[in-house]
Parts: sequence; structure tokens; C-alpha cells
Amino acid sequence: MSLKIISLLGIPVKLHYTLVLGAIFISWTLAVGYLPSEYPGLSSMTYWMIGVISAVLLFASVLVHELAHSHIAKKNGLPVKRIVLFIFGGVSEIEEEPKEAHIELRMALAGPLTSFLIALALWSLQYIARAFEASVIIYAPLEYGAYINAVLGGFNLLPAFPLDGGRVFRAGIWYWKKDLIKATRIATKMGVFFAYLMIFGGLVLIIGGIFIGGLWLTLIGWFLKSGAESSYRHTIIGEALAGVKIRDIMTREVHTVDPDYSIKEVVEMRFSQYKHTGFPVEKDMKLLGIITIEDIRKIPREKWQETKVNEAMTACEKLTCASPDEPAVDALIKMSKHNIGRLPVQDNGKLVGIITRSDILHAIRIRTELG
Ligand SMILES: [Zn+2]
Repeated sequence: MSLKIISLLGIPVKLHYTLVLGAIFISWTLAVGYLPSEYPGLSSMTYWMIGVISAVLLFASVLVHELAHSHIAKKNGLPVKRIVLFIFGGVSEIEEEPKEAHIELRMALAGPLTSFLIALALWSLQYIARAFEASVIIYAPLEYGAYINAVLGGFNLLPAFPLDGGRVFRAGIWYWKKDLIKATRIATKMGVFFAYLMIFGGLVLIIGGIFIGGLWLTLIGWFLKSGAESSYRHTIIGEALAGVKIRDIMTREVHTVDPDYSIKEVVEMRFSQYKHTGFPVEKDMKLLGIITIEDIRKIPREKWQETKVNEAMTACEKLTCASPDEPAVDALIKMSKHNIGRLPVQDNGKLVGIITRSDILHAIRIRTELG
């Protein structure tokens, strides 16, 4: 659930709906907590204005940080799908792993370096603003922006994969061991360790009465933990399936079903005989749809005799198909996107095979365990 706003440097930027919650939350904590203690004696309206400007400045800074990562990625030929801004910050969705450790290093460092540069620029601006006795509405957000960008740069340098510092750490091991998967495994363990440390630290703060700060830290820790694990899976899958086409691993020998079969027949002749959970429906060499266990489960047992396959199947129009020359990793993406376990493979409208989740998992297993 996100909204595309703009393209910057040729990269689409999307706002996730949780960003709104994040902006409200940050404006609120600034307006009622941080600002009154830093700049006493102002009206509550002024605090809220500074709070909102500061929150917008924070997310704009996060965006520039992500743009720095994405820009270096693009310059090195890696496809950047988009940047998503959400409640915990930003994510650059870069679809491939860098080819070499030194590219990863530059990509990872670009973000924190940018944040430190923004901090320096905003700090200089607030200095000038104060020298010219500008209004607090101008210099307070600049001061907060300088501070928060320094924190952002510093936090991201923690060696907790997939944070930038963790990527720098992974690039180092990668360069040293010449093995991306091994480096990712070590970096992920470190990332998960830091994530638990944050969750634990957050819980200690909550028990100690610092509720909001503690909750925030716990949530970031939890987010980091799932980020580390999914980045690890992503790397393993991407590496194991690099260069693999659907035609290399699809099942060619497909047991098809005639659309005029009854459900009873198809259960007896197909589902009971073979261990597949779905069969393509074909007539005169033309793919009409697919019949799966889920489709059959919707038909009451007493109607199995009278119901035909073409009444129960998922028709071709609703079907996601694949072509034999597509990368295998795309098939996996399609399956998880549509929450299905198999794709019929078509070549010029002709059914040439079927690819299932287990075909792909098998290929990943063979390639990671046997090299
Ligand atoms: Zn970063």
C-alpha cells in the first residue's frame, strides 16, 4: 500500500502509508517533549510548527540518504526498482547484489556519508540563521536536522546487516574470503545479534519507564531482525539462481487433464495417481486453465460426478503463466506475488512444461549444497 510520488534521478519514489503515522508521531514527540525543553518559553502552536517542519526535513533527509545509495547502484549497472519511504526510514529496492565487494563498499558508504554532509550543511545554515537573528521557526528545524542527520549517519554505520555498516562489514569479509554467501551468513548473524540487543535494550527502557523511546528501539530491532533474515534469503536465492532460466529446471513431462473430465475422474486418474497438487487443462494442444486441489475443495463431494473440470478450473485469463526463457527467479517472484505454487510454461501459446515452487527450491538446494 504505497503511493508513487515522483521520480528522482530516474528512480521512482514511493511513500508507504505508515510514513504518515511516523511523521505525526515525530512531530508530536518533538512538539510536546524535545522542543519545549530545548527552546523554552514558546507557544504550543510554534512548537507544533517546528515539529512538523522538522519531521518533513527528517524524511527528506532519509530520502536523500537513499538516493545516494541508489545513485551509486545505478552507476554500477545495478537495477534500482524504487525507493520506499516508510515509518522506520527508507529502503532502496536494488534488485541485484553488487558484482564485487568494492562496489558494495561504495554503495553502502554513500548513504551515511551523505547524511554527515547534510548534517554539516544544516549546522552551517543554522549558524548563519542565528547570526542573522532569524526566527526560531527557521533555526530550530535546521538545528534538529543537523543533529538527526548525524544520528542517522552514525546509526546506519552500526555493523548490523542489512544496515549500511553491516554491508560494509559484509563487503570486507567478502573481499577477504572471496565468497559472497559465506560473507552474507556471517554478516547476517551479526545483524541478528544487534537486532536482539536493540529489542532487549528497548524492553529494559520500557521497564525503566522510558516507554516511547523503548518501544521505538524494540520495533526497530524487530524490523532489523526480519530485514537481516530476508536479505540473507534474498542473497542465497539470487546467487543460487543466477543465470538459471525456467526452461533449465521446469518439468517438461506434464500430465494434462481434459476439460470434459468430471471432477471424480480427475481425482481418481490424476490427483490419486501423481503427487502433484495441480494439473494443466488442455484441449487440442491449447492450454485452457489449471485445476488444483484448492479448486476441487470448493466443490461438494456429492457433486464430483456431475461437475466438469472446465466448470471448476482456474481459467487461462486468470492464470499467471511463464515463458521458458524467463529467469527462474522471476517465476519465484510471480508465485509469491500471486500466492500460488505453480506456473504453466507457455511458448507461443503452446504448453511446454510446468514450473513449481519445489522445482525452484530443488534447484536452489542443489546449487547451494553442491556448488
Ligand atoms: Zn543507508
